[in-house]
Amino acid sequence: MSTQVLVLGGGYAGVMAANHLAGSDGVSVTLVNPRPQFVERLRLHQLASGTGEALHDYAEVLAPTVRLVVDEAARIDVARARVVLAGGDELAYDWLVYAVGSRWADGGVPGVAEHALPVSTFEAAARLREALEAAPDAPVVVVGGGSTGIETAAELADSGRVVTLVCGGLLAPTFHPRARRSLARQLARLGVTVLEGSRVTRVGEGSAVLDDGRELVGLPVWATGFQVSDLASRSGLTTDAEGRLLTDETLTSVDDERVVGAGDAVAPSGVPLRASCQAALPLALRAAETVLARLAGRTPEPLDNRFLGQCVSLGRRAGTFQVSHADDTAVGLFVPGRAGGLLKEQVTRQVLQSLVHEAHRAGSARFPSSSARARVLARAQQVTAAEAQAKVVA
Ligand SMILES: Cc1cc2nc3c(=O)[nH]c(=O)nc-3n(C[C@H](O)[C@H](O)[C@H](O)COP(=O)(O)OP(=O)(O)OC[C@H]3O[C@@H](n4cnc5c(N)ncnc54)[C@H](O)[C@@H]3O)c2cc1C
Repeated sequence: MSTQVLVLGGGYAGVMAANHLAGSDGVSVTLVNPRPQFVERLRLHQLASGTGEALHDYAEVLAPTVRLVVDEAARIDVARARVVLAGGDELAYDWLVYAVGSRWADGGVPGVAEHALPVSTFEAAARLREALEAAPDAPVVVVGGGSTGIETAAELADSGRVVTLVCGGLLAPTFHPRARRSLARQLARLGVTVLEGSRVTRVGEGSAVLDDGRELVGLPVWATGFQVSDLASRSGLTTDAEGRLLTDETLTSVDDERVVGAGDAVAPSGVPLRASCQAALPLALRAAETVLARLAGRTPEPLDNRFLGQCVSLGRRAGTFQVSHADDTAVGLFVPGRAGGLLKEQVTRQVLQSLVHEAHRAGSARFPSSSARARVLARAQQVTAAEAQAKVVA
């Protein structure tokens, strides 16, 4: 009898893990995803703006031997090693890969759930595209000064929209100050009005109110960061405060050796990596390797991925590639303008290609490694200790 691996979530992490595992003898892989197509999330701002599409048939990216079940996991019954699906069926597993990704977060701001137009899931981006098409001359207020907000604001401005970008704090806070200044210049050239230091405190139908009382009229586009599913906590699995599955550095759940996690939905050692494909893909390989190691009676290896940088597109003709240290902190080196845009497009294509290659030749995907993770964990420990000390003093 073959070993049954069940993968929850058919995004970048789930597909990569499924493809890697499907290449092993004696392993049967089933992947559960609510949509029958793969969503290329890296292109959702393009889908919303009408400058690109984001759906691919799973036949393009998934190994042919992986069984696809189109449904949603409603609960994980760890004691019985089964997953209850929203449609009522149950699937048994020997090993479970938890890779349910993330979606938009309303940040507790009144009016967001009713009136804002998020961009970070396929359904939301498609709704945003419809709203934009229905109001071709309407200005747009994009909320969120991180990569998703910047890319969405730039894409819309490049398509001829009047766009205001409300950053909440700094524009691109994780970029180096020099790269941030360059981004501000590039956004200004596209005609985007950037409001740093202003926060949106309420969203209405066709408007956003700032913390200083000003009301900005325009379609409110929500791009403030991601939130993960509560599936793990609902299922009684230990999570971090944000609901990510808590694992050790081999990506094994702290509750059950048979459950591993990857992508945006996990917090290894309680110190999550930046929500990104750059992390999701190596995490997926590590999670799959952990399962294979345990099957072979070997000790699984800890996480050893390294970051290379962050890239944003700025419309269809420009972008910025921010080079980083292996631990994901920005350095002073960056590639702006047309070359930055070409690099971003290249990276987006390569990410998809890595899934396609792994589908047909398991083991072909390779990602750079480093010992940076140990430094990240040591730093996180120091911060926790300092916070505990501060509490004692207070
Ligand atoms: C507009 C935009 C641009 C981005 N650009 C970049 C970029 O340039 N570089 C970068 O590194 N990152 C980028 N990101 C972030 C990146 O897309 C995510 O970090 C990445 O998708 C995480 O992969 P994942 O597999 O963990 O999650 P996802 O890709 O979100 O996949 C999760 C899958 O799980 C499914 N799912 C959810 N709940 C369940 C359930 N209960 N049962 C079964 N299935 C479920 C979802 O439908 C989805 O298919 C961008 C994101 C957005 C929105």
